[in-house]
Amino acid sequence: MKLHGLTAWELRLRFQDGSAAPADVLSDLKGRYQAVEEKVRAFARPPHFEEDVSGSSSGAGALQGIPAVIKDNICRQGDPTECCSRILKGFVAPYDATVVEKLKKSGALILGKTNMDEFAFGSSCETSCFYPTRNPWDLGRVPGGSSGGSCACVAADETIVALGSDTGGSIRQPASLCGVVGMKPTYGRVSRYGLVAFASSLDQIGPITKDVRDNALVLSVIAGHDGRDATSVDLPVPDYLKEMEKDLKGMRVAVPREYFVEGIDPEVREAVTQAKAKLGSLGVTFGEVSLPHTEYAVAVYYIVATAEASSNLARFDGVQYGLRVAAAPEDASALIGMYKQTRDKGFGAEAKRRLILGTYVLSSGYYDAYYLRASKVRRLIREDFDKVFKDFDLILTPTSPTPAFRLGEKTDNPLSMYLSDIYTISTNLAGVPAMSVPCGFSKAGLPIGMQIIGRPFGEADLYRLAFHYEQNTSWHKQKPKL
Ligand code: GLN
Repeated sequence: MKLHGLTAWELRLRFQDGSAAPADVLSDLKGRYQAVEEKVRAFARPPHFEEDVSGSSSGAGALQGIPAVIKDNICRQGDPTECCSRILKGFVAPYDATVVEKLKKSGALILGKTNMDEFAFGSSCETSCFYPTRNPWDLGRVPGGSSGGSCACVAADETIVALGSDTGGSIRQPASLCGVVGMKPTYGRVSRYGLVAFASSLDQIGPITKDVRDNALVLSVIAGHDGRDATSVDLPVPDYLKEMEKDLKGMRVAVPREYFVEGIDPEVREAVTQAKAKLGSLGVTFGEVSLPHTEYAVAVYYIVATAEASSNLARFDGVQYGLRVAAAPEDASALIGMYKQTRDKGFGAEAKRRLILGTYVLSSGYYDAYYLRASKVRRLIREDFDKVFKDFDLILTPTSPTPAFRLGEKTDNPLSMYLSDIYTISTNLAGVPAMSVPCGFSKAGLPIGMQIIGRPFGEADLYRLAFHYEQNTSWHKQKPKL
């Protein structure tokens, strides 16, 4: 197999025994990019393959010489960071995000930035101001979103590993639709310093990889406390690679009733049911549970997330960042005009919809009815999880109700788009970790993913279940024909 098709772990072994060098991987990836990027369009702008790799295989970092890509909302010094929005056109990051600093320190080679829904608002990558990314398994279908560029890039073997961000499912849903592994860590596990904020009480950065081992490897590099993100938690980072090897005997996994009801595609249901049987044969015991407030999750999310987004995105007004429409203001009314025109021209339709909704739910007279009430229901959703984790170690669900949908299929109906995150949103509201792992294919050959949810800071348990499942299945080894 060509080097671009290998995992980070496999490449590490080749670097160690001298059978390959990082420069070889870069040249293979460049060829792969030239062959498939035109079809997939995973990148936000052309990557750099001319990284200085001299000496990288001899270093001792966990990702020494391993190519990585990052989502366009993560800052890398000197690189455009535009969140695939016209309003950030020309904005160049003045510093590295903590995750980028950590990747670099571990020896990773950052190739470039991947396409995404504008400001991470979306589930299909179709709201990018550049172009939609396509699903490598079927170019007429979406890769999911908002980290669709990162997931498609990994699935198409245009990178070895990737980072995405997840506010309501943006790592897990596209990972599921592209047949790769995506982890949204516990809120506070990974620093968001240098991530352009969408909804600050929900956002997390996490790894997107070809298999579970690579995912654990990348998380161990990027996790940990950072004084520059006040929400980052000062807890030791476990040795995920070691912990995940422990066997599954005695592990108790809950299956929530509310996740297998109306709206789920029968093929998705079947794939998750088969996965459950496989896990049962590996020593896992299952029990049915209820997460009774699940039905409110989408509504609560679209209040909390839009409210926070309207506040976070107020800073994009033509003064400090990116785009400015109209001449530099001389008097107060010209200044207001500049704000208005910049925001009118700079934001796309979905961003405007969210900012208007978010401003509305926070406005005086409506705050109690919407934001405050949503915050209370959010608490109930968190308590649902707490209760289940008294008796169970993990929760197993589908990641997305359907496999990849067609480009354009949901763009005219925001509500149907929002419903594609119905299984992923609750975990962001609760702050708990969750990951998507490939668990099958539809008859049409589209990947299906299952979601594993765990206790706060229990990422090692998620990896353990995922790793043993993966060792006993071969879904992750299949590749799209491009
Ligand atoms: N698709 C969801 C949304 O549109 C989640 C996005 C995300 O996690 N960034 O908000």
